[in-house]
Amino acid sequence: MEVSVDKDLCIGCGVCEGITPELFSLENAPTAEVLSSPVPEEVQEAAQQAAADCPEDAIQVEESEAHDLAPENAERDIIVDEFADEDREDIDQIFKEKKMKAIVDKDLCIACGICEGIAPEVFSLQREPYAEVLLDPIPAELEDAVEESKEECPEGAITIEA
Ligand code: SF4
Ligand code: SF4
Repeated sequence: MEVSVDKDLCIGCGVCEGITPELFSLENAPTAEVLSSPVPEEVQEAAQQAAADCPEDAIQVEESEAHDLAPENAERDIIVDEFADEDREDIDQIFKEKKMKAIVDKDLCIACGICEGIAPEVFSLQREPYAEVLLDPIPAELEDAVEESKEECPEGAITIEA
């Protein structure tokens, strides 16, 4: 599931943030910012609720069938499930704090697959002719693998934002 906010419609009322602070933030107001898209499974219902309650219909929710069926997405869901089993509040906090972000420069990437080999939960070459980043933000226990992928990428195509 993908979520976006139409900045031209959003009036910064904060209704969405009140319903799903893991997904929406008014920290950089005047308009709501989406913190995590694709939307983690456990907050998808709340995302739908926020879209329904937005007084300006500024929130678009898209079910991405291809993405939901992709095997790499299943891997992501397993990770999310593991978090949820450990401590539900932990994953909420991880998404809220929006820690590490990984970016692949598709103009530099030569699709060698090294990053996917090191961190298959994060990088995938299955859907694109370049490495695609599956998780945003990067869960804490995968940060080392992402750092290693960045180091090992022969084209310097991976950048990391803290
Ligand atoms: S509920 Fe709608 S109008 Fe209000 S902050 Fe969220 S996106 Fe903007
Ligand atoms: S290691 Fe670098 S060049 Fe190779 S697939 Fe990953 S991002 Fe692309």
